[in-house]
Amino acid sequence: MQTVIGLEIHAQLATRTKLFCSCSTDYFGAPPNTHCCPVCLGMPGALPVLNKRAVELALLAAMALHCEIPTRSTFARKNYFYPDLPKGYQISQYDEPLAVGGYLDVELPDGTVKRVRLRRLHLEEDAGKLIHDPATGRSLVDLNRCGVPLIEIVTEPDVSSPEEAAEFMRQLRQVLRYVGVSRADMEKGELRCDANISIAVNGRLGTKTEIKNMNSFRAVEEALRAEERRQRSVLKAGGTITQQTFGWNPETGRVEPQRTKEEAEDYRYFPDPDLVPLVVDEAWKRKLREELPELPQEKRRRWREQYGLPDYDVRLLTEEREVAEYFEQVVALYPKPKDVSNWMMTELLRLLGEYPDKGLALPPEHFAQVLKLVEEGRINRNTGKDVLEEAFKTGKAPEAIIEERGLAQISDEAKLAELAEQVIAEHAQAAQDYRAGNEKVLGFLVGQLMAKTKGRADPKLAAKVLREKLSTGA
Ligand code: ADP
Ligand code: ZN
Ligand code: MG
Repeated sequence: MQTVIGLEIHAQLATRTKLFCSCSTDYFGAPPNTHCCPVCLGMPGALPVLNKRAVELALLAAMALHCEIPTRSTFARKNYFYPDLPKGYQISQYDEPLAVGGYLDVELPDGTVKRVRLRRLHLEEDAGKLIHDPATGRSLVDLNRCGVPLIEIVTEPDVSSPEEAAEFMRQLRQVLRYVGVSRADMEKGELRCDANISIAVNGRLGTKTEIKNMNSFRAVEEALRAEERRQRSVLKAGGTITQQTFGWNPETGRVEPQRTKEEAEDYRYFPDPDLVPLVVDEAWKRKLREELPELPQEKRRRWREQYGLPDYDVRLLTEEREVAEYFEQVVALYPKPKDVSNWMMTELLRLLGEYPDKGLALPPEHFAQVLKLVEEGRINRNTGKDVLEEAFKTGKAPEAIIEERGLAQISDEAKLAELAEQVIAEHAQAAQDYRAGNEKVLGFLVGQLMAKTKGRADPKLAAKVLREKLSTGA
């Protein structure tokens, strides 16, 4: 038995305005029905005007996913009734989509690459939202989301496990974010996924079911795992699978039956008479190709060669484009990739997590400067971390912070020798133990000396000075 999965993904395009009108797409958290106009409310006589930037973002996505882009595509009306769809139809693309074919190479955790082919990528508008009020048992309608631009991506049934499906979604999201096509925040519904799943027996495709309402990577994996288990046990018991649509309920961990799936014929697709065919010529494509950044996978490949970094570092630091580009800026100033990587993975990512509003405002020059100061021994590693944090929070230059707070490392041997004598006098017992052969107490004495200098001593030099003092003094 072999699991077969195909995904249908919707991603909200990162435009300022909707697909066919100038209403703002910034509807998340806004009061209901405040981002609407006659066009997106479907008033009779209102005419749609296609948003050029939405087309460009969709084309960029298609290019990043290696799709073929026909010169001409058309818009169609997909007719159905639902209270969140005031027009009674959704403007989508049907028999002439914006892009066809393409693929995403998914890097699996075991290091292998799984190519998932795409069937198509098209533009369409979103519908509104129903808000169910459990207290009154009523449903209210919010049309702010009506007409928000989406791309729909349909894969071939190439995905062979729930884990692979989740990984595909993660890496697709990464590509969409790198290119700036979509913010793709799943919690905000900017990236949504429906999945089709079936079990092939002896190489023969089985009947598929569809699962909706998965709004996190974990939900994708868990829902598919639950449905995979259910189908397998039905088949093992000699039963048959009926084609059906389920909704994922993360609370119960089960899939729940929804309406049975419409066939394409039910939608009565027909060309939208208000919209002319969309023509994408070579010049436009060429211009957009120049906008395309290095994609995550290309970047990872280059980094492994160019910087010789461990795979763990590469994956973590290329997770987000902004962080990856920051790394390269710092390495250009301080060409020790592994040191930069270590400091970024531990310190910088921690700071970004702790102070999310700050973002990456810390100039790469300041980051590189901290590393240099540590390397030169002007400050020790721990002080370096403090300086980095202060630079991150205040925007001050590391040099200035060191001056201001008198943090420069004490590497003056005479000064340390003087302090070492004090430490030995104050901890006579420990000193005696050391001289009697208990070398472990040296760590304690170094600690005391570090405390006296408020952490500013070079720990290696402190140990050396103490050892000398202990071996000479009586
Ligand atoms: P439908 O006609 O039911 O909409 P499509 O052939 O258009 O089905 O495919 C819709 C999605 O279902 C695609 O993502 C496709 O890869 C996937 N799919 C098709 N056949 C199967 C199958 N047997 N098992 C799992 N997924 C499938
Ligand atoms: Zn509008
Ligand atoms: Mg179909």
